[in-house]
Amino acid sequence: MALQLAAITASTFKRCFLAVCPECGASPVAPLATGFIARGHIEHVWSCDECGTAFGTSVEFLSDDCAVSPALPL
Ligand SMILES: [Zn+2]
Repeated sequence: MALQLAAITASTFKRCFLAVCPECGASPVAPLATGFIARGHIEHVWSCDECGTAFGTSVEFLSDDCAVSPALPL
């Protein structure tokens, strides 16, 4: 079952849909690109607005939460 957007908390939304730059800790507004990997699994490419670091995250959506990989510089 896909993550139910209407039922998630603000902290879950922040963790599942936003990212933190591994170099400076800033949060970019939106990913540069998002790729569908498999059902419930997407990957994002981000560019930090503050320091310019490019990094990637991988998100797997669970029934009521998500698992996010650590942000890794590209
Ligand atoms: Zn940064």
